[in-house]
Amino acid sequence: MKERTTDCPIAYKCGGCIYSDVPYETELREKTDYVFSLFGDLCPVYRIKGMDDPYRYRDKVQAVFGTDRTRRTISGLYIRGTHHLIEVRDCLLEFKEASSILLAVRRLMKSYGLHSYDEDEMRGDIRHVLLRKGHNSGEILCTLIFGNDNFKRKKEFANALHAMCPEINTVLFQINGEKTSMVLSSGRIHTLYGKGYIEDTLSGLRFRISASSFYQINSRQTEVLYDMALLMADLKGNERVLDAYSGTGTITLLAARKARSAVGVELNEEAVRNATENMMLNNIGNARFIQADASAYCKQMAKEKEKFDVAFLDPPRSGSDERFLSSLIRLSPEKIVYISCNPETQRRDVDYLEKFGPYRTTAIQPVDMFPRTEHVETVALLEKTKD
Ligand code: SAH
Repeated sequence: MKERTTDCPIAYKCGGCIYSDVPYETELREKTDYVFSLFGDLCPVYRIKGMDDPYRYRDKVQAVFGTDRTRRTISGLYIRGTHHLIEVRDCLLEFKEASSILLAVRRLMKSYGLHSYDEDEMRGDIRHVLLRKGHNSGEILCTLIFGNDNFKRKKEFANALHAMCPEINTVLFQINGEKTSMVLSSGRIHTLYGKGYIEDTLSGLRFRISASSFYQINSRQTEVLYDMALLMADLKGNERVLDAYSGTGTITLLAARKARSAVGVELNEEAVRNATENMMLNNIGNARFIQADASAYCKQMAKEKEKFDVAFLDPPRSGSDERFLSSLIRLSPEKIVYISCNPETQRRDVDYLEKFGPYRTTAIQPVDMFPRTEHVETVALLEKTKD
């Protein structure tokens, strides 16, 4: 057996931390090498930006509730690639307070006679607990997800939970009786204690985080990632910026502060609503958000002969598509800053832009957003060639 470098008692069972056996330095080298193997022939690949402390970075925790063989209530996560629940008393990636809050929930369940929800039998009470922490603000949100609406003392339960864990700022609940592996259903989320949301700051902007809003889970590294993206864009103040796949508008708003105007395009209606709220929260007047498929929007803009000076894109793992990329070429930005959580689809898309557009990839910077796990995030800069 290899030497263990982690204190995590379940590292071998859960399967999330594939690098738990190796020093962080080795992980960083392997991740940089991986990006180099994909992009080394195209442009300079910078050394990955890692974390000083590669643990406790997850500001969002989704615990699954169930029972062990002795019918004892446990909380944890599904073993990677399975539907088998494994008990997690403390995950070293999660923010420090998460384990004591989940312990308090389990204890309170016992005193209130609550059971964990059984998905197959569709019986029981608590199904999931979703925790979020504002890394910079320190505020904590706790959402209890019940499988049905049978339990009538929810408010009392929330007050008791707050009494046990005063670090929680707000407690919410949702009923999710659907046959789904999603933590939250599309139904309403109700507030039991506090304001119903928390706030955080990221790169100097304020963001409101509700139970369902999209927000990066590793705030510390998100700032590193966004700083890099903005450094590459090198905005001077007069640019028209496009931010495609804009989520809750974080990049759009950061870019708007340094440019003439910024447009964020995002498919998800709720994310667009969050983005608009965030824009108002920060008194930003030169940004706007459009709810649309990024490809359809760009195609329409290209048809109207619209131009952008700088484009950011941050698509999901599957990458972008040719419809988007061909329209982007027609929108003719001087610079394209492409953020990706899947360097393989990023390479495919970058090849398309180089082949069919006047673009050259001039740099790629990997950022370690998810230390100890297999994931690698990258930011690539593409610049228009002058010929
Ligand atoms: N830039 C944001 C979010 C990136 S995640 C941030 O840094 O937080 C990718 C986003 O792309 C998600 O919000 C997803 O809803 C959105 N998305 C997926 N397919 C899309 C499409 N076809 N058009 C527009 N947005 C899309």
